[in-house]
Amino acid sequence: MLNQKLLKIEREDSYNKLNRLVAGFKASHPEVKVISLGIGDVSFPVPAPVVEAMKKACGDLADMKTFQGYGAYWGLDSLRKTIASCDYGDLGISFEEVYVGDGTKTDCTAVLELLDSSAKVLTGDPTYPVYKNGSLAMGREVFFAECDEEFKMIVPKERYDVIYICSPCNPVGNAYTRTELEKWIDYARKNGSYIVYDNVYRDFAESPDIPRSIYELEGSRECCIEMHSFSKNASLSGVRCSYFILPKELGRDVHDLWRERTINRFNGASYVAQKAAEASYLPNAREIISRNIKAYKENGVLLRETLKKAGFDVIGGIDAPYLWVRTPDGMECWEAFGFFLEELGLITVPGAIFGSRGRYHLRISALGSNEECREACRRIEEYYEKDI
Ligand code: PLP
Repeated sequence: MLNQKLLKIEREDSYNKLNRLVAGFKASHPEVKVISLGIGDVSFPVPAPVVEAMKKACGDLADMKTFQGYGAYWGLDSLRKTIASCDYGDLGISFEEVYVGDGTKTDCTAVLELLDSSAKVLTGDPTYPVYKNGSLAMGREVFFAECDEEFKMIVPKERYDVIYICSPCNPVGNAYTRTELEKWIDYARKNGSYIVYDNVYRDFAESPDIPRSIYELEGSRECCIEMHSFSKNASLSGVRCSYFILPKELGRDVHDLWRERTINRFNGASYVAQKAAEASYLPNAREIISRNIKAYKENGVLLRETLKKAGFDVIGGIDAPYLWVRTPDGMECWEAFGFFLEELGLITVPGAIFGSRGRYHLRISALGSNEECREACRRIEEYYEKDI
């Protein structure tokens, strides 16, 4: 019998529908230069020092003296130490608490294997779809928290075992403040719940009340598993490397259990990918990464200002590379998607892809090139000029 839980996942593949609509429009309007504001991937290439490290890593594999095969199930110690010192300097995370993976998409639901299969999972609506669909695929029961007017989850009265918090957030483009996160930590400690804190967009956050790591907050080590990826900062989305933190305070047996689980379920991230991740901390790589993030952030600000000036209701675009935009004139999101495509030659993502509460929103991404973003904003401005 096939996995019945998998069969229950919504069968309509919304991204296929989106791609079909875009392909149809391009075929019938070859004269329009379509610009994607739907992109969830990065557009800058891998920084040169990181590429150099990958080349060297390939050389290691070609030499009997430096060849690396199986073994680093939870990551190379050199990378784990670099992460602990560079990302957590004075927060007291030891390298033994760092587990390297092949992407946060994998890690964020893999950690569910640490907990009993009866664990009840809570996420938002809208949400990064993997929290919901990945948990369902693993046979977990998924619930949706109430959200405030900024689409941030409200702490529930009921007890849940696992809470996914994405901050800075895909798809809404905002981030949880220290005060908001303290309420969740308090809830998790009282209820013996675990917070899976997806921090893949950490490098985009700039508002002073947004923590860089959940471990800046008191009590978080008892209940939070922080996830980070090298996809969005070092452009390693096609190379695959990530990590997460299992603090010792999560429980006496957590590390033994996780190691047992991992030895039987995962042979470690690629050696070349881990060497690339390690090189992303080199000063010359950091410089390039900061420049790239700055460029995406400029897109975010420009898109936000342009859309607001045109009269749109906009959330995000400052602490994350996404904007959550209310559709014009009460249109449903797929209709608004069609409107942006046909009138402006712009691809957006219908909010319903991220949950039913996204029905009247579009997700707009700042991860494209500066040039295309400027052109997109010029088109929006021109279309709405009469109202500006
Ligand atoms: N988490 C969030 C919130 C994301 O938006 C994405 C990718 O878009 C991921 C995780 C996946 O990251 P990775 O490339 O490390 O699998």
